[in-house]
Amino acid sequence: MSAYLDHVLDGLHHRYPHQKEFIQAVDEVFASTSILFEDGGLYASYNIAERLIEPDRIISFKVPWMDDHGHIQVNRGFRVEFNNAIGPYKGGLRFHPSVNEGVLKFLGFEQIFKNALTTLPIGGAKGGSDFDPKGKSDAEVFRFCQAFMSELFKYIGPYQDVPAGDMGVGAREIGYLYGTYKKLTSRSEMGVLTGKPLDMGGSLVRTEATGYGLVYFTDTVLKHFGITTHGLRTVVSGAGNVAIYAAKKAKELGYHVIAMSDSKGYIVDEDLDLELVKTIKEKERGSLKDYIQRAGHGSYKEGSVYDDPTLDVKVVLPCAKENEIDAKRALNLVKQDVLVVGEGANMPSNNEAIEIYKQNHIIYLPGKAANAGGVATSVLEMNQNATFRHDAFDVVDHQLQNIMHAIYDQCQMMIDQYHLDPYDYQSAANLAGMKKVCDAMIAQGQY
Ligand code: NDP
Repeated sequence: MSAYLDHVLDGLHHRYPHQKEFIQAVDEVFASTSILFEDGGLYASYNIAERLIEPDRIISFKVPWMDDHGHIQVNRGFRVEFNNAIGPYKGGLRFHPSVNEGVLKFLGFEQIFKNALTTLPIGGAKGGSDFDPKGKSDAEVFRFCQAFMSELFKYIGPYQDVPAGDMGVGAREIGYLYGTYKKLTSRSEMGVLTGKPLDMGGSLVRTEATGYGLVYFTDTVLKHFGITTHGLRTVVSGAGNVAIYAAKKAKELGYHVIAMSDSKGYIVDEDLDLELVKTIKEKERGSLKDYIQRAGHGSYKEGSVYDDPTLDVKVVLPCAKENEIDAKRALNLVKQDVLVVGEGANMPSNNEAIEIYKQNHIIYLPGKAANAGGVATSVLEMNQNATFRHDAFDVVDHQLQNIMHAIYDQCQMMIDQYHLDPYDYQSAANLAGMKKVCDAMIAQGQY
C-alpha cells in the first residue's frame, strides 16, 4: 500500500474508531484498489481517497411518533448523501434497531461503487432509522413513516436523492413514505422513491430484482468456469425480500435449495416449500419456527445456518445481514467444499472470511456486484416514471439480466487488465467501480 493511502486510512481510523462497519468497508475497498493510489499517481495527486471517504453530507434528525397507546416515542433518522459524482444520490432506507451513523456510512460507501458498476448514472447514499418495525401495528408503522418523511422530504427529489427500500422497508413502508411526500409537496414526483407499490408508479420486477439479479450473476460466473449447476445444493440465508426471490430464481434455474434462515434460526428441507416461507415471512411477518409443523417435513434449529456442518452445500447465498459469516463459519464452508459464495446482502462476509474463501479457491462474488440488480431496477423504475410508462415484466427482467451481464463483463475486463487471479471478483468489482467514480470526480473538478 502506498504512503498516500496509508496516511488517508490512518486518518480515518483515528477519526472514526467507533464506526467499525464503516472502517471495515473502507479498508476492504482500498486494500483491493491500492494499485490505483500509488504515490504521485493521478488519483493520489487529486487526493481522491480522502475526498471519497467523507460523505458529501449527513442529515440526522429526530423522529417523534405516537404509538397505539398514545405515548410519544422518539427514534433517530439519518440520510447519508455520500457521493453524487455519477448521478443523483441513490440508496435504500433501513429500519432496524442496529441502525446508526456508522452502519449507514458503511452502506452508503459500498453503494457508491455498486451503483457505478450498474453502468447507470447514479451516485451513492443510504439512510434509515433505529426504528424496529417488528411487532408494530400497521397504524404505528404508518405514523412512523409519516414522521420520518416530514423531515426527510426537504432533502430528496428525483434529480437530487432517491431513496428506496432495504431491511425493514418494503412496499408498505415506501407507499406510506411516498404518500407523505406527496402531501407535503403537492407534487406527484414518482421518481423520488423507488420500490413503490405497482399502482402508484412501481415497476414490475423491482420486488424480485435483488434476488433474481444475484442468481443471474452467480449462474453466469459458475457457467464461465464450466461448472454444471443443475442440482447444486444451495443455502440461502435470510427469509426477507432478497432471500425469498434469490431462492425462487435459484429453484427455477435448477439449483437444489435446501435451507433458509431468519434472525432466530433456520430450516433445512430437501423439499423446501418456498410458497410457505413466503406466506409466513412476507404475509404474516412470522417466524420460520412455524414452518415445520405447517409443511409437515424438514427440520428447524435455532442459531446460524452457517454453524451447521451437516448441510453439504455447494452454493451459498447470504441474503440476511452484514458480518453473518466470520472466519469460523467460513472454515465450515471450506469443509463442505463450497464452490461459490454469492452475496445478496451487503458485506455478509467479514474480511477474515473473504481471505479464507480466497485461500481455499471458493469463488467469492461480493455484494456490490452480485446484489446490484435491486438498485439497477430502481433506475429502470425511475426511467418508467419519468416518461409515465409501465413496462411489462419480461421487458424489465430482460433489462435486469443485461445489466447483471454488463457487471460480469466489467469484472472480467478488470481481471484481464490487471492480471488478477481469475477468481478475484472482489478486486475486479472494486477496481471497476472505483475507476468510474474517481474519473468522474476528476472530470468535474469537484472539491
Ligand atoms: P428484509 O428486512 O426483507 O429481510 C432481512 C432478513 O434477514 C429477514 O428474514 C431477517 O429475519 C433476516 N435476519 C436479520 N438478522 C439476521 C441474522 N442475524 N441472522 C440471520 N438472519 C437474519 O431485508 P432485505 O431482504 O431487503 O435485505 C437483506 C440484505 O440485502 C441486507 O443486507 C440489505 O442491505 C441487502 N440488500 C437489499 C436490497 C433490496 O433491494 N432489498 C438491495 C441490495 C442489498 P427476521 O424476519 O427474523 O427479522
